[in-house]
Amino acid sequence: METGATGTASVIDRTVLADVADVLPEALSLYKALHAAPEPSGHERETARLLATRLRETGCEVTTGVGGHGIVALLGNGPGPVVALRAELDALPVTEATGLPYASRTSGVMHACGHDAHLACAAGAAAWLAARRDLWSGTLMIIGQPAEETLAGARALLDDGLYARFPRPDVVLAQHVAPLPCGVVAHGPGPLTSATAVVRVVIPGRGGHGATPHLTVDPVVTAAHVVQRLQTVVSRENNPFEPLVVTVGTLHAGTVPNVIPDRAELGISIRCYDDDRLDRTVAAVRRIVQAECAAAGCPEEPLVNVGPVAPVTVNDPAAAARVRAAHTRLLGERRVLTTPPMLASEDFGLFGADGVPTVYWFLGSIAAGDWRAAPGRTPQEKTAALPANHAPDFALSPDATLRHGITAATSAALSWLGREHCAG
Ligand code: ZN
Ligand code: ZN
Repeated sequence: METGATGTASVIDRTVLADVADVLPEALSLYKALHAAPEPSGHERETARLLATRLRETGCEVTTGVGGHGIVALLGNGPGPVVALRAELDALPVTEATGLPYASRTSGVMHACGHDAHLACAAGAAAWLAARRDLWSGTLMIIGQPAEETLAGARALLDDGLYARFPRPDVVLAQHVAPLPCGVVAHGPGPLTSATAVVRVVIPGRGGHGATPHLTVDPVVTAAHVVQRLQTVVSRENNPFEPLVVTVGTLHAGTVPNVIPDRAELGISIRCYDDDRLDRTVAAVRRIVQAECAAAGCPEEPLVNVGPVAPVTVNDPAAAARVRAAHTRLLGERRVLTTPPMLASEDFGLFGADGVPTVYWFLGSIAAGDWRAAPGRTPQEKTAALPANHAPDFALSPDATLRHGITAATSAALSWLGREHCAG
């Protein structure tokens, strides 16, 4: 889709749209360089270096090595609010199958979630603001967050003094690509992504010969009971009007049929839209594991390790309304959608620590032609037919995604920083 003039766009909005062409080529080349050299969570050294270099060229003061490979870049322009724009540095353990000329050169690692686009859009927004200092006042902060996919990076940044060593932001913004047409953004009034906890369980048994079960404590049978009993957390303990998922995603025990193993291991994913419910569900999992192990006469206490945990991503209502208004002026009402909550998870909610308002929105990344060509009539049917985030054939449309991502981020930041806003 092309960005049309909306008629209600302010001088600043019209300038954002016009001047994005000046910063797009650099952003595109950064995007392709990042896409070709993905690094997994916690190992984003080269990604951080590329981003830091680009942001220094733009005029930012850059601090590296924050919370691991995280970076914090500041673009100061006189007194005024501090607006942070967060983008993730990490890629996924996925083997790319797009065949693109700038496809991953690292086997088994791929930017399959669009974090490379988020970084390029953040760098593009910084470049736009650096070039048009006459239109705003305050400080832009770019947060390059490591380890989002493992839900460890936001916590690491905060624990390393993000809000103490650097100016405390008045708002933290983030956007995430989504299977929607380019030129569309989607906002949510309530929860956007779920609270989540990963729970790892080890059930201890007493191993032995498969022929003499009476001389063993079989952890396989106990694990089977645990898996079954966990289904009652959702069906019997949870209010049916409140979404909750408890998924046992991994279950490992034993190696051969004629040996009873001495342990079984479970990996459990819990998702819901409320942090108290998450705590109660983790407690229910712990209770069930302990009770089943007691029932089986396990020789030791089971291990129940909880983590990583991420809170629900929920926008600050006033700040989100401000960003939505900016996007509506920029794109027109038709291109600003309202999204229902998703049971995907994010650690972005942690940036809301100490009452810092946060705003998160989805950014369309599918070329208009691909969207039209996708089978199905409803957006849901089309989305189901397109390669999803985390899939080996995930491929966003770089030019249009970045153009709209840079303008969406810049206009959102200018809702606080723009001279026409910051007097208030
Ligand atoms: Zn992801
Ligand atoms: Zn992601």
